[in-house]
Amino acid sequence: MSFWEATKLRLQTAGKLLNLEPEMVELLSKPMRVSEFQIPLRMDNGKLQIFTAYRVCHNDALGPTKDGTRIVPDLTLDEVKALAMTMTIKHAVVDIPAGGGKGGITADPDKLTERELERLCRGFIRRLSPKGAWTDVPGADIGTSYKTQAWMLDEYEQIMGFHSPAAINDKPAIVGGSLGGEEATSRGVFYIALEESKSKGFIPESCRVVVQGFGNVGSNLAKLLYNEGFKLIAVGDIRGAVLAPSGLDIPKLLNHVKQTGSVVDFPEAKPISNQELLETDCEILIPAAVENVINEDNVDRIKAKVILEGANGPVTPLAEKTLLSKGVTIIPDIIANAGGIIVCQFERIQGLYDMYWDLDTIHQRLKEKILKAYQKTVDTAGEMDISLREAAWVNALRKVTAAIRMRGWV
Ligand code: NAD
Repeated sequence: MSFWEATKLRLQTAGKLLNLEPEMVELLSKPMRVSEFQIPLRMDNGKLQIFTAYRVCHNDALGPTKDGTRIVPDLTLDEVKALAMTMTIKHAVVDIPAGGGKGGITADPDKLTERELERLCRGFIRRLSPKGAWTDVPGADIGTSYKTQAWMLDEYEQIMGFHSPAAINDKPAIVGGSLGGEEATSRGVFYIALEESKSKGFIPESCRVVVQGFGNVGSNLAKLLYNEGFKLIAVGDIRGAVLAPSGLDIPKLLNHVKQTGSVVDFPEAKPISNQELLETDCEILIPAAVENVINEDNVDRIKAKVILEGANGPVTPLAEKTLLSKGVTIIPDIIANAGGIIVCQFERIQGLYDMYWDLDTIHQRLKEKILKAYQKTVDTAGEMDISLREAAWVNALRKVTAAIRMRGWV
C-alpha cells in the first residue's frame, strides 16, 4: 500500500470510529489545493535543467496551512499529498490553529552546488508565490536547512518589499527564527518518554532505552535522556549499531560520532546489526530513523514494552496490530514527534509580533503543549478502547470537522 493510500485508510478508519458522514470523509480525502509547477534553473555549467515542484494545501479550516518543503530526487505528488494530510491531523492533535501543507522539489540537493541550490530555492518561492503568514507558510523538511529557509524568506521579502518573518518557517534566529528549533522534535519525544515512564513505573536508572537513528532527532534525544539518568543500552545509524548492556556513555559516543561520522566502532560497546538493535530487550524502543523498520518480518522478535515513534511511520499497520495484541504501547508519530511543529508555531507567533522568547519559555510552552495532547490522547484511547494512534486521529478529526461544519462547508 502506498503512503497516500495508507494515510487515506487511517482517515477512513478514524471516520468510522466517529461515525462521520461519507461527504465529510470525501472532503478530507482530497487536498483543498494542489500546485504543480516547473522551476527552470541555469546550472553552473551553463546548461538548463527543469525541476518539478509541488505545494499541497490539504485543509485550512483551523487556520493557515503550514509545513515543510522536501527536496529529494524521487519525490511524487502522492507523497506530498499524504504528508499534507498528515500535517492537518498533526496540527489538530497538538491544538495548533493551522491546517496541513507540504511542498517539495524533485531534485537531489547533494548533486547541486550551493549556488544552484540557492537559485532553486529562490525559484521555488518565485513560482509558488506563497501568500504569506496568514495563508500558507512553507517550512523545512528533508533536503533543506537553515540556509535554504533564509534564502526562501529573503526571496519572499524581496518580492513583497517588506519584512515578514512569519511567512517562512524553520529559519535561523538572526532573520526572525525561533530559539530551540533544532532540538524541538527530540525535546518533545523526551517529555513524552518521561511521562510514559512515570505512568509505567519505569525508573530512569534501570529503564533500558534503545534508539535507532543518531541524526538530528536520535542524537539530541539520546543526550537529553542520558542527562536525565536513563540507561541507553543500544543506538544505531545507517552504518550499524552498538550495544552496552550496562549503558552507553552518550557524551563520549557523541564525540566519537563527531570524529568518525558514525556510532560504529565505538570502543566501549559491542557491535550489533540494525536488526539486532530493534530486537534488543528493553523498556523503551525509539525508532528515530526511517519508516517501516518494524514490520511483518521482525515483529515477533520485538521485545520492547513501549515503542515511541520518533521517526515518521516506523511501524507498519500489520506489525502494529501484532504488537498491540501483545500489550506493547505504541506512542504514534503524530504526537511523539510533534515537538518540531509546535516550535514552528511558536516561531510564527514570534515573527508576527516581532518579539522573541528566551529558551526557557520555549521549553516550558513546548512541554505544556505536547503533554496536554499526549494526555488527551491517552484519555480518548481509554474511553473508546482504541489504540493511541486511532485516538490521536479521532481527537484531530473532531476539531477539524467541527471547524468545517461551523464554516458551512459540509
Ligand atoms: P537525520 O537525517 O538527521 O538522521 C537520520 C538518522 O537515521 C541518521 O543517523 C542515519 O544514519 C539513520 N538512518 C538512515 N537510514 C537508516 C536505516 N535504513 N537504518 C538505520 N538507520 C538509518 O534525520 P532526522 O531529522 O533525525 O529525522 C529522523 C526521523 O524523524 C525521520 O523519519 C524524520 O521524518 C522524522 N522527523 C524529524 C523531525 C525533525 O525535526 N528533524 C521532525 C519530525 C519527524
